[in-house]
Amino acid sequence: MEQVAIITTETRPSPWGVNKPVNQCSLADVMSEQLARELQLEEESHCAPQEALSDEGSFLTGDDIATSSDEVLAQMLQMQFDKEYDAQLLREERKFNGDSKVSISFENYRKVQPYEESDSSGDEVDWQDTRHDPYKAVKPTPTPKKGFIGKGKDITTKHDEVVCGRKNTARMENFAPEFQVGDGIGMDLKLSNQVFNALKQHSISEQRRSARLHDKKEVSTAEKAVDPKTRLLLYKMVNAGTLDTINGCVSTGKESVVFHASGGRLEDQEVPAECALKVFKTTLNEFKNRDKYIKDDYRFKDRFSKLNPRKIIRMWAEKEKHNLKRMQKAGIPCPEVVLLKKHVLVMSFIGKDQVPAPTLKEAKLGLEDSIQAYHEVLSMMKQLYDECNLVHADLSEYNMLWHDGKVWLIDVSQSVEPTHPHGLEFLYRDCRNVSQFFQKAGVTETPNERELFNIVSGLNITSDNQADFLAEIEALEKLNESHVQNHGKKISAFHKDDEGPPLMYDE
Ligand code: ATP
Ligand code: MN
Repeated sequence: MEQVAIITTETRPSPWGVNKPVNQCSLADVMSEQLARELQLEEESHCAPQEALSDEGSFLTGDDIATSSDEVLAQMLQMQFDKEYDAQLLREERKFNGDSKVSISFENYRKVQPYEESDSSGDEVDWQDTRHDPYKAVKPTPTPKKGFIGKGKDITTKHDEVVCGRKNTARMENFAPEFQVGDGIGMDLKLSNQVFNALKQHSISEQRRSARLHDKKEVSTAEKAVDPKTRLLLYKMVNAGTLDTINGCVSTGKESVVFHASGGRLEDQEVPAECALKVFKTTLNEFKNRDKYIKDDYRFKDRFSKLNPRKIIRMWAEKEKHNLKRMQKAGIPCPEVVLLKKHVLVMSFIGKDQVPAPTLKEAKLGLEDSIQAYHEVLSMMKQLYDECNLVHADLSEYNMLWHDGKVWLIDVSQSVEPTHPHGLEFLYRDCRNVSQFFQKAGVTETPNERELFNIVSGLNITSDNQADFLAEIEALEKLNESHVQNHGKKISAFHKDDEGPPLMYDE
C-alpha cells in the first residue's frame, strides 16, 4: 500500500524528453486490470523503437545507426561535398552549352548519380525496366541469421560494420524488381544503414509510382509505337477526359504516327466522337528531311535559328494546326483541329467506325467520281492559294481522302505560303502530281501540269517544256528574294493578272 503511494506520486524521468507528473490514485484503481492494460499500452507506445528491428525488408533503427555514427557523419559530409561539386558541374555544363542547338552532357562526371534528382516532373517521366538484369542471378554469400560466425573470439554481431553492410547489400534483392540496384550485388559491397534506408525508401516510392503508371497503361496496346514522353502526353489527354480511349494505330508514316481515338469532352467544346491523333516523330533524321520547308518560311524563321530539334518538331505540329485552321475557314474539306499539345495534334477523324477513309490512290474511283474529284481538287487548290495563301507542297493522291462522296485534304504540316523562297516550285510539283493522277484516271479535261500551275497561281508562264518552265519559276522566286534583301520586306503575293506586273509588293 505504502509502496504504491510512493511510486504513483513520483515524477518518472522520461527518456523521451517530456516529464509528466502522474496523478495519485486509489488502490482500487491501481488493482484494476483495465487501468493496468492502459498503462502497459501507454508504456509500450512510449518506449517502442522508431522502427521495428531489422526483419527482412524493414527499416533499421536509430540504435543501429548510432554504432557507426562517425562513419555516417563522414559519409554525409562527403555526400554534401559531392552534391556541391555536381551543382558546380551543372553550372559549367549550362555555360558550356549556352544556346547551342547541340548540347553536351557532363552527366558522367557527376559524383552523385541522379536517382532522386532525375526529373520526375509532369511530362519528363521515363520508365526503367530491369527485369532482365543479369546481375540479379548473382547472390552474395549468406550471413547466418543470428549474426554469429565461428567460435569464441570470432563472434560477430549485427552491429559489426562489415557484416551489417554486407547484409544490407544482400537485402536490396528484396526491393521491387523494377528497382535498379546496380551491379553491386555480385561484389563485396557494404552499405551503411543510412544509405540502405534511403534506398529502401526510394524503392518503395518507385513501386508506388510504377503502380500508378501501370494503371494508366490499360489505355491501349497501340501506344507502344511512341516514346514514353509521348505516351504520357496521351495518358494525360485521356485522364483529362478530352479523349475517352485511344484505340489503335491508323498509320505509321515516315514523319508521324496517326492513332484513332474516341473523343471525350474539352471544357465547353464538343470533341468529335472519332478523332485522329497525329504524333510527329521526334528523331533527328526525320527533322532533317523537312527543314527545307520550315527554315525558309518567314512565319517561323525568327524562331527557327534559336530552337533545338525537339522544339522544331513541335513547330511542325503547330504549322499543321495553323494551316488546317486557314483551310477550315475557307471551307475546304479537311480535318477539324481539336487540340494541340506539344508534338501531338488532335483533329477530327476522316472515316467511320475507326476505319480511315481511303486515299484517292486506294479508292479506285469510277470515271464519274474521278471527274467530280478532279473538279473538287482543282477548286481546292485555287482556294488554298487565293484564300488561305498556301501551297500544299505535298499534294498527291496519297494525301487526299475520299470520304462522304467528296475529296478531303490532309497532311498540311509542310504547307507554305506562295512567297516562300521555294513556294512556286512546290506548287509546280503539286500540279504535276495532280495532273498525272487524273490524266491516268481517264479524266480527259485534266490540263497538263504547266496549264494547271497557271490556272492555280494566276501567273502566265508561257514556256512549253518543263525545264524552261521551271527556270522561269525559279527566276520569279529569285526576284522575290532579292526584293527581300534590298528592301527588307517580302512581296505580299505573286500577281495574278496577266496584264499587270509579275509581282505585288507590300507598302
Ligand atoms: P506519310 O509520310 O505516310 O505521308 P504523314 O506523316 O505525312 O504520313 P499524314 O499523311 O498526315 O502523315 O497521315 C498519314 C495517314 O494517316 C493518312 O494517309 C491517313 O490514312 C491517316 N490520317 C491522317 N490524318 C487523318 C485524319 N484526320 N482522319 C483519318 N485518317 C487520317
Ligand atoms: Mn501524308
